[in-house]
Amino acid sequence: MQTQKPQKIDLNGDYPCPCRRRGRLTPIALTDAFGCNRCQQIFVVQDSGHTIEQLSTNYPYKRAWRWNGHQWMVVNPSLGKGYVPLTLLITFALVFLLLLTTLSAPVGSQVAFRVVAALVLSVMLVSMLWLACRR
Ligand SMILES: [Zn+2]
Repeated sequence: MQTQKPQKIDLNGDYPCPCRRRGRLTPIALTDAFGCNRCQQIFVVQDSGHTIEQLSTNYPYKRAWRWNGHQWMVVNPSLGKGYVPLTLLITFALVFLLLLTTLSAPVGSQVAFRVVAALVLSVMLVSMLWLACRR
């Protein structure tokens, strides 16, 4: 019998891995987590046993799945996707404006110098922030 209703995840159960490498999830002793024997990912059971969440360093957002008794269903795959670029854009705008207003240009230089300097500095700062977020 197959249902589409999310089922509670049994920590002693035998589940396939949500990755597409036909891995199996094996319970990690003394934790609420599963490990995959193929992709080496770790999935933590969340939401009082109804969701597994990928412990990932490769994505700026977390991926989660629910078990419908037959297969894993991705939970809100788009959630958070547009979040990081938006945050970076806002940070960029703020840093740029801040630098533009605080940066003192050398005597005799033009306003264009300040704009370019502020732009370069804010791009550097935001790139560093972005790299830090991706880790
Ligand atoms: Zn896997």
